[in-house]
Amino acid sequence: MGADFQLFIGGKWEDSVSKETMESINPATGSGYVTVSKANEQDVDKAVSAAREAFEIGPWADMAPGDRGRLLYKIAQKLWENVDYLAEVESRDNGLPINETKFIAIPAAIDVLEFYAGLANKIQGETLASPNDRFNYTLKEPLGVIGAIVPWNHPIMISMWKIAPALTAGNTIVIKPPEQTPVSVLELARLFKEAGLPDGVLNVVPGDGTHAGAALSSHSGVDKIAFTGSTNTGRLIMQAASKNLKPVSLELGGKSPNIVFEDADIEQAVNGSMFGIYFGQGQVCAAGSRLFVQDSIYDKFMDEFREKVQKIKIGDPLDGTTQMGPQVSQGQLEQVESYVASGIEQGATVTVGGERQKDRSGYYYTPTIVENVSNNMKIAQEEIFGPVVSVIRFTDEADALKKANNTIYGLASGMWTNDVKRAHRMAKKLQAGTVYVNTFSMLDSAAPFGGTKQSGFGRELGTEALDMYTETKHVWVDLSEDGLNWYGL
Ligand code: NAD
Repeated sequence: MGADFQLFIGGKWEDSVSKETMESINPATGSGYVTVSKANEQDVDKAVSAAREAFEIGPWADMAPGDRGRLLYKIAQKLWENVDYLAEVESRDNGLPINETKFIAIPAAIDVLEFYAGLANKIQGETLASPNDRFNYTLKEPLGVIGAIVPWNHPIMISMWKIAPALTAGNTIVIKPPEQTPVSVLELARLFKEAGLPDGVLNVVPGDGTHAGAALSSHSGVDKIAFTGSTNTGRLIMQAASKNLKPVSLELGGKSPNIVFEDADIEQAVNGSMFGIYFGQGQVCAAGSRLFVQDSIYDKFMDEFREKVQKIKIGDPLDGTTQMGPQVSQGQLEQVESYVASGIEQGATVTVGGERQKDRSGYYYTPTIVENVSNNMKIAQEEIFGPVVSVIRFTDEADALKKANNTIYGLASGMWTNDVKRAHRMAKKLQAGTVYVNTFSMLDSAAPFGGTKQSGFGRELGTEALDMYTETKHVWVDLSEDGLNWYGL
């Protein structure tokens, strides 16, 4: 029997060459609910060939930039008509509450597509200052075939961060969705095709990292790899990409500091800090998982924070009243448990949560607060990627800054303060790709997003991301009467 979902290669739905399939597990029940064809090296090879052909010949290769933009807008329109459907597919596959997918993640992804669609005919080179006897100019050209590898926490949104700028610039793309949540990106591709995207421009090859992922990142027919995932996998991707020296962009892990100063609006800081760590069940790369609270307001802030966190409603991701769904997988659930256990072992105290939701099947873990954490503990240094916040006290601005920057990561950071001078002083000194002031975990299609230190390099979103999907070509035209005759012969 064939799989419920097949690979999407060259505009066609196909079984994998090996006929192998994998199950997508519904994290709310812990049971498999659909089967998906599983790509291996041969399938990746076919997808890269299809993408190469679409890049070099046919309607996409010859499309005027303005027409490309119009087509991407048309696709965005199709996606708006299917927001509810995409939200449901995403929530079923990875457990995100339906309100988060329907009102935040999917609309944000479509907004990204629209942002780049408008830029399709605004990508331009330069006329260079040159003497009268020559003419120098630059062209901004697409790179060719892009390989994209994405994680399971927000597959549609994170894929769109790559698809939209890549296609806007005229590239073609092969995406490998994660093995835990392979369905939603396939459904996204189906809508792209239905809205008129030419065959081969977007290809989707679900499979695991060691086969499909490794094959894509090392493939010599791929011109660039755009990766989002863990820091350890990022290292492997860089090694694999070195085979044909293709450029890489890496959006990796984080352990982002969220600092609450004594002059903050406490209620806003409590609400924003909750969103910062518990949105997406804490499975968010930028999550404010290290909460620094100033000594002088510690009790006031924490009393309110604990009280509100206990009220977060856990439940079925497809129920509109649910505020937190399950972790994505058994493995992820066990990882969260083992980090909390290590915190306790090292002397920290769990003051809220810290356990599985026992009355439910599926991978539910309660929203958790761990206090009495010191900065050198494992739970203060390593990414948990779950609904666990490590709370650390600080005395003053210098102490907060020192502790906040004491990490291998540098993805995001945030602070709550009503002192405008302090906010800007801190913004300059925090080592992170994004600094939030009086908010947390916000994204905007126009705002570049990415990491420093071991959170990776390259910036997605904004006009800046187009640099990662274009190559600058310099053209030198000699205008002199005599031409070049160095040897005088
Ligand atoms: P992961 O690194 O295990 O997997 C990410 C992707 O890489 C998956 O598609 C996986 O199949 C693939 N992969 C695994 N091994 C591979 C290999 N050897 N070669 C090629 N591909 C391989 O990460 P995950 O557990 O899926 O996601 C969680 C991680 O992603 C967290 O560390 C999180 O911080 C990070 N993340 C970062 C951002 C960001 O923008 N910085 C956003 C979301 C998630």
